[in-house]
Amino acid sequence: MTSALPPAVSRLIEAYRPVHDLQAAAAVLSWDQETMMPPGGREARGRLLGTLAGLRHDHLAGSAFADALAGCDSEALAHDPALQALVREARKLHDRAVCIPAELTRALAEATSEGLATWQRARAADDFGIFRDSLARIIDLVGQKADALAEGGSRYDALLDLYEAGSVEAELTPLFEGLRAELAPLVQAAAASSVQVDESPAQGHFNPDAQYAFGHAIAQAIGFDFDSGRLDQAAHPFCTGFDVGDVRLTWRFQEDDFRPALFGILHEMGHGLYEQGLPADWRGTPIGSAVGLGVHESQSRLWENLVGRSRSFWEWLMPHFRAAFPQHPKFDVDAIYPALHTIRPSLIRVEADEATYNLHVAARYDLERKLFAGEITVDDLPEAWDATYQDLLGVHAPSAADGVLQDIHWAMGAFGYFPTYTQGNLIAAQLFDAAREDLPGMEDGFARGEFAPLLEWLRTRIHQHGKMRTADQLVREATGKPLSPEAFLSDLRSTASAVYEV
Ligand code: ZN
Repeated sequence: MTSALPPAVSRLIEAYRPVHDLQAAAAVLSWDQETMMPPGGREARGRLLGTLAGLRHDHLAGSAFADALAGCDSEALAHDPALQALVREARKLHDRAVCIPAELTRALAEATSEGLATWQRARAADDFGIFRDSLARIIDLVGQKADALAEGGSRYDALLDLYEAGSVEAELTPLFEGLRAELAPLVQAAAASSVQVDESPAQGHFNPDAQYAFGHAIAQAIGFDFDSGRLDQAAHPFCTGFDVGDVRLTWRFQEDDFRPALFGILHEMGHGLYEQGLPADWRGTPIGSAVGLGVHESQSRLWENLVGRSRSFWEWLMPHFRAAFPQHPKFDVDAIYPALHTIRPSLIRVEADEATYNLHVAARYDLERKLFAGEITVDDLPEAWDATYQDLLGVHAPSAADGVLQDIHWAMGAFGYFPTYTQGNLIAAQLFDAAREDLPGMEDGFARGEFAPLLEWLRTRIHQHGKMRTADQLVREATGKPLSPEAFLSDLRSTASAVYEV
């Protein structure tokens, strides 16, 4: 591929390669940190990641990269959208790096590595005080980064843009308000319904090895390539890809309920399918990666919720489930379906149902905006968390571990990240609707274990484009319209009515 490229673009790709490789090396080390590394490795790993982040920054901000970029201004690229996107993405990375002092990048990498360790200790001890100083330092450093990027504009918008290009408060605030207005009555109606969902088919004793084998086999049957991927245990499930040929999924389990492991694996597998489907021709270039976190999350939620919780999927899964857990009392699809679609306000985001999930995100969005607008400080967070949860979900966290300490994101310095979860939910529903229209009989096919048509549809509409198009373009082209909450809400209303008769 590179042989046919204009020489200036080849030079830019060569100049970018060390940046990509340093990033991939850091990702391997982060994966190791969360899956294999003994606790004693924390300090050294933090320093190492800090060094790599600093080197990456120096490359991006350096004169060699700037020169390579300057050489790409020619009109010759005007007719090739992929090359235009390549230069656009490279320039964005360079401009960002130039804005942010190298020292700040290193300090942030070290602070977050240390923050992850204190957050884990704080969570285990159920004591926000243990995390307080680390978090204050992270918020201070992220604030400095936001100031550098915002150049006088909104600090929080600058952070949002890091995770989903173009995301702004001015659009997200009405989106969350609208969702809240629609979701609150639905959640109330489910709570007031006389239907009591029987969750016993999902509960019992599920051997962890059997859960692993089951999840692994399902991911493989759907299309995840284990010659180019792995599945390992981690405290907080995630997916990370170093290359289209090396994508890591992680999972965790509960012995008394199969749902967290199964849906966790389907979720991470959705991310992993995207990573494996990225354009191999552009690997290691600025357009060879995923477009943004909203679209990334749409891939995980689509397989987890829209496929994995559907009746037809369970018709296919049932014999495999019985074979994997032969001791478990037999149930049929009608019996399990309601237990896959419960609606109940709860404390923990990652375990939240489809209806209340976005309210958990709205809570974090509210708190982050206030933090970066200076309306609250780190010391206000525990109380503000509780008040926001009371207001949005009507629940009170009896402990910090289940409240303000529940998420890993702030320890990672990832402020502005949470809204991408809601964007992902909405994009997933809209894509699924469009796929259903394009592929008649798609859902009937699930019952026969036929997932290839949907995967192929996602590959051509989303995966293979890497960063060559914006998220907005991908959604418009794949679905024929701009992103809206309509598909998500209509899907939710129909499941809620099937389960709760509301
Ligand atoms: Zn995800």
